[in-house]
Amino acid sequence: MNANYIAGEWMGANGSVENINPSDCSDMIGEYAQASTEQTSIAVHAASQALGAWRETGPQARADMLERIGAELAARREELGTLLSREEGKTLAEGIGEVARAAAIFKFYAGEVFRIRGERMDSVRPGLAVEVTREPVGVIGIITPWNFPMAIPAWKIAPALAYGNCVIFKPAELVPGSAWALAEIISRAGLPAGVFNLVMGKGSVVGQAMLENPDVAAISFTGSEKVGRHVIATATARMAKVQVEMGGKNPLVVLDDAELDAAVDCALQGAFHSTGQRCTASSRLIVERGIHSRFVSRLVQRTQALRVGHALHAQTQIGPVVDASQLGQDLAYIQIGKDAGARLLCGGERLPLRHDGFYLQPALFADVVPEMRIAREEIFGPVACVLVADSYEHALALANDTPYGLSSGICTQSLKHATDFKRRAQAGMVMVNTPTAGVDYHVPFGGRKGSSYGSREQGSHAAEFFTTVKTSYTAS
Ligand code: NAD
Repeated sequence: MNANYIAGEWMGANGSVENINPSDCSDMIGEYAQASTEQTSIAVHAASQALGAWRETGPQARADMLERIGAELAARREELGTLLSREEGKTLAEGIGEVARAAAIFKFYAGEVFRIRGERMDSVRPGLAVEVTREPVGVIGIITPWNFPMAIPAWKIAPALAYGNCVIFKPAELVPGSAWALAEIISRAGLPAGVFNLVMGKGSVVGQAMLENPDVAAISFTGSEKVGRHVIATATARMAKVQVEMGGKNPLVVLDDAELDAAVDCALQGAFHSTGQRCTASSRLIVERGIHSRFVSRLVQRTQALRVGHALHAQTQIGPVVDASQLGQDLAYIQIGKDAGARLLCGGERLPLRHDGFYLQPALFADVVPEMRIAREEIFGPVACVLVADSYEHALALANDTPYGLSSGICTQSLKHATDFKRRAQAGMVMVNTPTAGVDYHVPFGGRKGSSYGSREQGSHAAEFFTTVKTSYTAS
């Protein structure tokens, strides 16, 4: 059994869960310990105790540790990418790419350690000087979803440590393998005991214990809107700092003047790759009337040609859905779409393949109107819908007509419309002639409205969340 890492030691548990490969349910990846609420408290206590020692660790040592973690991830990206794809179901190329990204994130924050700056100013009152400095927040609770088992933990853990905080990391139940492998690498990087802790287990048990513990100064969460709202309510009730990234219903607008093949590529990649299981997936394709029939017929052809299969097979383009429950949700939404009068153009059936996995043929709906549930609610699977727009203004209004606001895309050759869209799209990220999914790691990531709460993740902007500002006055 793979144990939890608490207070610098590997700690067993009473219970464990089996980690099953969604491409082949007969493949059991391993057994992973389930931490108790008591073990979660021990981890938080150890992290609180370690804060002083970690803060005194100089920037060089801290940067070296982060660099070491990044270097090992990079060196082992094929092995760890295989593990990731085996437990999550994204293709091997995507799995390896994600581990390489996690490596780059640790290396980026190794550099950020040297860029934690302060300011010194003369006071408005004579004889005084003012300094503004950034300090660590304290113990950070990190709660992550299953769809990016390496990259999301990396983009929270690396800045938390870089800015001098201690970490309690609770990964999603479905992907303990990648989390454990990452924790094992971190455990050998030279951090003092208690600075980093891994507590695997149920959200309602371990996650909830982290939310309620008064010694957890801040919670960084990524996951569903439902749990996200609960995290916000619980953390703010005890005045903990909180950063929450939730779902999306991201639009990709295709205007009449778009380059057809490029627009179809953007839609296909954004809607269906990673099995549509990305918060930035393009689940609403908003297409102007003049290009609509050409765009839809080309997209149907390309969608039907996608090769769905075992995540580790070289020819696979779309891996399985992550588990039975998510597959059930995807199929239920496909039925909801049909019942509402949307026209299923292709896909939408479970595929009986050679392996016993959760395979779904990517589904594309036409005749979708904004009121339909498939156009409003996050499905989180390979299901996309096409809405028709009469003009650019109509397309923009449809794009913004959503409770979410994560990523918003447009395909057009018009500089005027691209420029206007960047200004008026109600989203945290805007994409012009590139898919709504796919972002850099050195710039801010996050959304608006129902997608996000709190300050941005990633890049130097992560300092807003992972540090607290102090203003000091000194009389001369
Ligand atoms: P989820 O909300 O079910 O779970 C997320 C995490 O919260 C898990 O670790 C879970 O164990 C934990 N959790 C559950 N109940 C809890 C509780 N009571 N207290 C504390 N923690 C609790 O989400 P999921 O199914 O793992 O992930 C899919 C969702 O994540 C989708 O909605 C997707 O859009 C979203 N997501 C968002 C982003 C983003 O950056 N905006 C990125 C990736 C995924």
